[in-house]
Amino acid sequence: MVASAKTVFNFCSGPAMLPAAVMHEAQDEFVNYHGLGVSIMEMSHRSPTFLSVLAQAEENLRQLLSIPSNYRVLFLQGGASAQFSAIPLNLAQPGSVAGYIDTGYWSQKAIDEARRYTDVQVIASNADDMSQGVCAEDYSVDQSLAYLHYTANETIDGIQFDHIPECGRVPLICDMSSCILSEPLDVTRFGLIYAGAQKNIGPAGLTVVIVRDDLLGFASQLTPKLLNYQVLAENHSMANTPPSYGIYLANLVFRWLLNQGGLAEMQAQNRDKAQILYQAIDASQLFYNYVHPGVRSQMNVPFFMEDHSQLERFLQEAENLGFLNLKGHRSRGGLRASIYNAMPREGVLALVQFLEKFENSYAR
Ligand code: PMP
Repeated sequence: MVASAKTVFNFCSGPAMLPAAVMHEAQDEFVNYHGLGVSIMEMSHRSPTFLSVLAQAEENLRQLLSIPSNYRVLFLQGGASAQFSAIPLNLAQPGSVAGYIDTGYWSQKAIDEARRYTDVQVIASNADDMSQGVCAEDYSVDQSLAYLHYTANETIDGIQFDHIPECGRVPLICDMSSCILSEPLDVTRFGLIYAGAQKNIGPAGLTVVIVRDDLLGFASQLTPKLLNYQVLAENHSMANTPPSYGIYLANLVFRWLLNQGGLAEMQAQNRDKAQILYQAIDASQLFYNYVHPGVRSQMNVPFFMEDHSQLERFLQEAENLGFLNLKGHRSRGGLRASIYNAMPREGVLALVQFLEKFENSYAR
């Protein structure tokens, strides 16, 4: 099925599309939540109704990811970028060195910010060959590091880790902004996981942090209160007004995921969708993706055109047909299709059909 004027497939990398069922549910409750006569976004965050939504959101996320009881779940503001600062401020003690793995644009942002607060050692990098990820054999983790940070999925570069780094007793910290909830996860391997919501969780403005208890309480004196994990945990995400509507929508997404069959089911669907798209790109003479197959992102598929001069025409035709937001990141150019949990298989099939059609018309 090629998208008709009425059918739109939104491939935006974030803020990304949300499941249609969730959007309709939110629409039904938008003005009048459960007959209370007000919207969720119009009520006190300390009201029993909102507190119950917050508790459900935490409970559902715990169920989805099997989060053990010695981890706190925080619903925060500030985006994933605020965590770039919070992590060193909370976890790097004076005189210590923080370890980072560099796999692309977002790792580098995290590294640049951490350098403002701590010494950083980049223990592995793919900077000299962006077609590759970083293999487990490429690095070893010095046990004196304050923590080890990596970016599980590089949203812009389309590179995804094929392993969870093994780092002994060094706390492992992961930016999962663009892959959280796309597959099952062993949370116990991590000290802290964080993610901006606007890809696989809900609307922008919400950030989820999952942090192990024993990492609380080490923030440096000058850490802003709202970046101090202990303060945030003690106040159950309510050290100030939380992003209440975002938390409400995230809870709908969590419930939707549970109803879909949970993360094992999402993993199967995501693998299938990614395979369909990569296969079509690899079979094409006009489009290509240069990332090594073993580390290709399941969520963000960057691709390029052999003939750059066709890019604008391609984007225009795509948009006319309802394939939205296929333009690559401004720093990388080319094209990118983000296919998070909410993207239906039909969207990917329709895109593949369009790629083939465009290529055929170009070749003629
Ligand atoms: N990390 C990753 C992997 C991302 O994809 C993004 C946003 N695209 C960020 C961090 C930054 O997130 P935010 O804009 O929420 O600060």
